[in-house]
Amino acid sequence: MNEHNMLKTGAVKTEDVTSDILSLRTAIVNVQMVGSPSGGDWVLVDTGLGMFADSIVKTAHDRFGRPPKCIVLTHGHFDHVGNAKELMERWNVPIYAHSLELPYLNGKADYPVGDPSVGGGLMARVAPMYPHKGIDLGDRIHVLPEDGTIPGLPEWRWIPTPGHSPGHVSLYRKQDGVLIAGDAIITVKQESALAVIAQEKELHGPPAYFTPDWDAARESVRRLATLRPRIAITGHGVSMSGDELSDSLQRLARDFDRLAIPDQGRYVEKERDH
Ligand SMILES: [Zn+2]
Ligand SMILES: [Zn+2]
Repeated sequence: MNEHNMLKTGAVKTEDVTSDILSLRTAIVNVQMVGSPSGGDWVLVDTGLGMFADSIVKTAHDRFGRPPKCIVLTHGHFDHVGNAKELMERWNVPIYAHSLELPYLNGKADYPVGDPSVGGGLMARVAPMYPHKGIDLGDRIHVLPEDGTIPGLPEWRWIPTPGHSPGHVSLYRKQDGVLIAGDAIITVKQESALAVIAQEKELHGPPAYFTPDWDAARESVRRLATLRPRIAITGHGVSMSGDELSDSLQRLARDFDRLAIPDQGRYVEKERDH
């Protein structure tokens, strides 16, 4: 199926990462359903590209037969909040995000415009066309609990991983080392349309065209590397695990400036002026 058809029909590709985590790809971005299909609470992490609400609701209904406890957003970029409004209304559930991400989710602020000059391919070149305006989720948007817990997921903790956006968070379950990293790290070269279509697996830093703070992004990747996760599920690309993950994550943390920061770019220049 080509990309156009996928968008029109809103078909999702799914990946069973563990028995209690299903990752769904909405064209170019993943959302995760976390929780046991056999009972108890489950949580939706991110909401994907717009027009996929029907597929997400149907997949959830088939898998759980009940709505989630809540929705957690790793951050508020358009491709992660595309169905947020519709899903929260249809399920009648709250949405949680980091306090620093709230202005982009309650209509108070917009993200910087996507930077086409970072290079790397077509997805980056058309970045100024991507929506960058904040959305307004009204009184359903809440701040994640200060103590790192996540409503509905007692085994999980959220970890601040800013840089790609001010209030970006990742989710981590220590017991089996599963990391849901949003866009703090991703497993596909998101700047390149060809790599995105093929979903070529390779660990990368955050999508460059939307990352305004590279110092914070570097610190976030280093923080994730110290966790030594066994499985990483990312906002873009397929999941990565084992030696492939540990080797490439340690390398990315060590050599972040060379591997992740573009040679030039609007937000790179700004950084280096400081
Ligand atoms: Zn993003
Ligand atoms: Zn993204």
